[in-house]
Amino acid sequence: MVTIPQPVLVLSPHMDDAVLSCGELIPQLGDCVVMTVFAGGEGVDWTIRRGWDAVDCGIPVGINVVELRIAEDNDALSRLDASGHRLDFLDAQYRRPQSEPAPHVIGEKIRGALRRLGTQTVILPLGLGHRDHELTAAGAAWAARRSSELAWFAYKDLPYAYEEPNIEAALEKLSDMAPAPVGLDAEPRSSDKAAALDCYPTQMRGLGAERREKAMLAEGYWSLSPRSTGRS
Ligand SMILES: [Zn+2]
Repeated sequence: MVTIPQPVLVLSPHMDDAVLSCGELIPQLGDCVVMTVFAGGEGVDWTIRRGWDAVDCGIPVGINVVELRIAEDNDALSRLDASGHRLDFLDAQYRRPQSEPAPHVIGEKIRGALRRLGTQTVILPLGLGHRDHELTAAGAAWAARRSSELAWFAYKDLPYAYEEPNIEAALEKLSDMAPAPVGLDAEPRSSDKAAALDCYPTQMRGLGAERREKAMLAEGYWSLSPRSTGRS
């Protein structure tokens, strides 16, 4: 296993993505914080019936879904010996298209968290399968170019990497960061990952059995070498 400096921060677009994509790696990282980017709930009207929450995940209308997902996430992360940290950006299903955050706004908040937490290594999603994943990758890339003294890695978003094989295109977006495949997951313990996924009953219902199976396929990581912009 590649030695990576600690503490480590794993960026998660939503509350479940880090576990879906890195659930075998996280327990091996030691001092690890998972930071969810789209974990805000301020101003959301929970009386509105939304397709993903209400129909796919089966959550009754009127429940604060963000609070429910934070509780699920804390449970899952504790099983993987990691802790949770969250930013307050609104998930795509809760925001208006015109209020989508720009990558540099996300990147600024990521950098603020890196400083507060004393992070030495960041593991970010390639940005597959969902607009919020793309935005997380773009925001993290912005931060990486300004914090190039840290160690940076990218992970394969699961299960999406096994549905939309546009990994090359995602890597191209990070191409100035010279991605190189790297084996981080030397001794995976799939039973821990499966137990952690069970902590997300609403999300797993929404994803379905087939996608959950794809999330248990091989995890994948790339080492990134961001070029500094010279700006801080
Ligand atoms: Zn997601």
